[in-house]
Amino acid sequence: MPRKKIVAGNWKMNLDRAKARELAGAVAARSGEAAGVELVLCPPALYLDAVGAALSAAKSSVGLGGQNMHDKANGAFTGEVSAAMLRDLHVGYVILGHSERRSIFGETDEIINAKMLKAREANLKPIFCIGETLAEREGGQLEAVLRRQVTEGLKGLAEKDMAETVIAYEPVWAIGTGVTATSQQAQDAHAFVRSLVAELYGADTAARIRIQYGGSVKPGNAAELMACPDIDGALIGGAALEPQSFMEIIRNGLEN
Ligand code: PEP
Repeated sequence: MPRKKIVAGNWKMNLDRAKARELAGAVAARSGEAAGVELVLCPPALYLDAVGAALSAAKSSVGLGGQNMHDKANGAFTGEVSAAMLRDLHVGYVILGHSERRSIFGETDEIINAKMLKAREANLKPIFCIGETLAEREGGQLEAVLRRQVTEGLKGLAEKDMAETVIAYEPVWAIGTGVTATSQQAQDAHAFVRSLVAELYGADTAARIRIQYGGSVKPGNAAELMACPDIDGALIGGAALEPQSFMEIIRNGLEN
């Protein structure tokens, strides 16, 4: 069965409440242009409620995702958000292991793995981010880094959890830099990640899992990237903050 493409917008720490609602409404209004593609919006946690309400008001099938969560159920974790709190707001997806969480907030593979397990326990679908730095790529470490991130990050996840997991390959050097991986670099990394999933969970799971590409995806490069056989959609940062570029990426990606 062909894999349904999934495109998610990671709004990061941007917009205000009114703009978040407006952007959600604009994407919902145009979501008919994305027939056959699953769309997910990941606003700041504080605006999940407002964005969810805007999507419901538009009777939209666009999904809602968190950008992060804590791995504990509750307790003295000032400033944190739990998986159950996300579920309470009807959130379906959660981005975990984003490179900004890894590099700025010191999240290790072990922490990310604990979050992955918690997310699945709460029936959230993780968008599990992996990717190498430029130094790691140039130092010939690409495959070793991806192998470590995949093996450690997915530890303890059952095969049935993999059916609800999306992987986002995001080379760190391409995130927010305007530099995109070439389609060949991206395809090679995606094929390698799929082979890792096959090693861990078997060929069927590997054939079914969706692997998004992320890193400076723009309307101009979406078609070429999404035409690659192992690229099943995109995780989009900057270009997701504006409905025109977000929808153009999807439309161009669908042209294949
Ligand atoms: C991201 O933050 O996941 C991302 C891919 O950002 P950008 O599209 O801005 O590179």
